[in-house]
Amino acid sequence: MRFNRAVFLDRDGTIIEDTHHLSHARDMKLINGAAEGIKLLNSAGFKIILITNQSVVARGYLTELELINIHRELENQLQSQGAYLDAIYYCPHHPTKGKGTYRVECDCRKPEPGMMRQAAEDHELKLKNSFVVGDKMSDLEAGFAVGCSGVLVRTGYGIEAEARLAGFEQRPHLIADNLLEASRWIGQQEVSEFVDSGLA
Ligand SMILES: [Mg+2]
Ligand SMILES: [Zn+2]
Repeated sequence: MRFNRAVFLDRDGTIIEDTHHLSHARDMKLINGAAEGIKLLNSAGFKIILITNQSVVARGYLTELELINIHRELENQLQSQGAYLDAIYYCPHHPTKGKGTYRVECDCRKPEPGMMRQAAEDHELKLKNSFVVGDKMSDLEAGFAVGCSGVLVRTGYGIEAEARLAGFEQRPHLIADNLLEASRWIGQQEVSEFVDSGLA
């Protein structure tokens, strides 16, 4: 059976510098090594899927159209370095701080895995052979909930997250200095044949 392996990437603090509530493309800055890491995963055959909580929309700081424009600029910057995203999913909601229909307890805001489930359906992903990379444990928890392996990066809030790991039942499979180091490790991981051959 054919399926795809994915690497789910967090945005803020993982691919771009965490500028609190980023609302202008001109303020966006790629983290060192991020484009190189994505390029490496592109060549290794992974679907690269951006999964991001953007309560800036619920809070009214940004419209969805403005968010989409920021993402277009992000893709342009990555492409200029030969790196590609296969898809972008964002959660515009917030459970308590939101306007109108955006104020909702949704199933897409991480640590809920709704965006990953949707991506799995859209891109025929095998989640158990997929990975999540983020700078917060809420990123990894979303992946763990659907069977992915998780890498915590020390960019963004990663150092703070690493210091507070004791409170979590499931630890990261790797803690990496940045997305490039995470990508090198992911590229070396083998597919679990027993799970996927149908013979186990
Ligand atoms: Mg983040
Ligand atoms: Zn949501």
